[in-house]
Amino acid sequence: MTAPLIDPFQRAISYLRVSVTDRCDFRCVYCMSENMTFLPKKELLTLEELDRMCSSFVRLGVQKLRITGGEPLVRRDIMTFFRSMKRHLDSGDLKELTLTTNGSQLERFAGELADCGVKRINVSLDTNDEAKFADITRWGRLPQVTRGLDAAREAGLQIKINAVALKGFNEDELFSLAEWCNERDMDMTWIEVMPMGDLGNEDRLDQYWPLSDLRARLAERYTLTELSESTGGPARYVRLEETGQKIGFITPLTHNFCESCNRVRITCTGQIYTCLGQEGMSDLRAPLRGSESDAPLEEAIRAAIALKPKGHDFDYSRQEVAGQMSRHMSHTGG
Ligand code: SAM
Ligand code: SF4
Repeated sequence: MTAPLIDPFQRAISYLRVSVTDRCDFRCVYCMSENMTFLPKKELLTLEELDRMCSSFVRLGVQKLRITGGEPLVRRDIMTFFRSMKRHLDSGDLKELTLTTNGSQLERFAGELADCGVKRINVSLDTNDEAKFADITRWGRLPQVTRGLDAAREAGLQIKINAVALKGFNEDELFSLAEWCNERDMDMTWIEVMPMGDLGNEDRLDQYWPLSDLRARLAERYTLTELSESTGGPARYVRLEETGQKIGFITPLTHNFCESCNRVRITCTGQIYTCLGQEGMSDLRAPLRGSESDAPLEEAIRAAIALKPKGHDFDYSRQEVAGQMSRHMSHTGG
């Protein structure tokens, strides 16, 4: 029997998020700069290497695998990888295969994703207004995403919409976005904006819209019931009693989930980050490329998990951004 991955704080690691590319067809202002320089192809894990990496984690007890990026669906031949991961679902070793996407390629891939055993997907969408959508994503176009969402629903995928809460940007859509999701049977989660990367738009900090405020505003119209259920992620949920709809909140800036953190992240270059909010990482690409056997890789994975920190240091409370990260979300895969 392979020993499971347990970190120094007795947290079992059962959830792996893997970034499969740093590239994206959008340039969301809080995530990327307009002129991004992307990595040369040889730096990226190949699809075969991604398979070995993920399969090793599954062998070590990972039960939930989330594919992210950059935009995972712009990686060439990414469906080959999804098709290959299906074997772990079929064997029962993997309980869930899922992805986080901007939705731009769903019209093309939703059916295939469903065939590969994907049941639920997260789609990031901050606004329902075409002009605002083009503004916040720079290169994205809303109708393409809504067509993708339609295709995903038709393929039977359960959708969760993730919206980044941005003061002065989508505050006015608090209720309309919730209603829009409810009408389409899509769950919805709000994410607090995180201080990621040097994007050359520091005034974005002004866009920090605390979810405590958002929640208070929801409570002015709806009766909120706190739900204790957890999806193994950092979101906390409330139910709007009047509609029965569930709304999630991801507040990475408050230390409300580190103690139950069951996840690690792999970048598209094969580095493992055991905490989203800490710089500490270990390289898994060298042991992966250095041997045909997976033994050195597994050893490196265990060594990295043994260094998983207790929690992160993000803090907006002192009027400046403390604990700011220099890497972009698109590198670690949000
Ligand atoms: N391209 C895909 C997408 O947009 O869903 C997957 C990768 S994206 C980096 C993953 C998530 O990170 C998205 O929901 C995005 O809104 C979120 N994100 C990116 N930058 C962020 C930031 N600075 N603060 C909070 N969330 C951020
Ligand atoms: Fe691309 Fe997602 Fe980042 Fe937007 S949030 S730029 S869609 S990776």
